Amino acid sequence: MNAYAPCPQCGGTNAEKIRFTWWGGLLGPKILKHVKCPGCGKAYNGKTGQDNTTGIVIYSVVVGVLALGLVVFMFAALAALMMATR
Ligand SMILES: [Zn+2]
Repeated sequence: MNAYAPCPQCGGTNAEKIRFTWWGGLLGPKILKHVKCPGCGKAYNGKTGQDNTTGIVIYSVVVGVLALGLVVFMFAALAALMMATR
């Protein structure tokens, strides 16, 4: 028995923390308390015991928006720099 909620699929209580995922890198699974059941392989939210799909979608959107915002900001900064040095 550990600190994580039981598996929503098989009820197993030996969930292990996932350190790295393709969608969230190192930070995503930490934020979403993403754990994996060794019994059936189901990954879920270790705090709520619910499926983490919604959280993953929200996380991906937030990261996507931040990345896009950063790119837009860099282009704007570059454009401003070119204006200033013309
Ligand atoms: Zn399970």
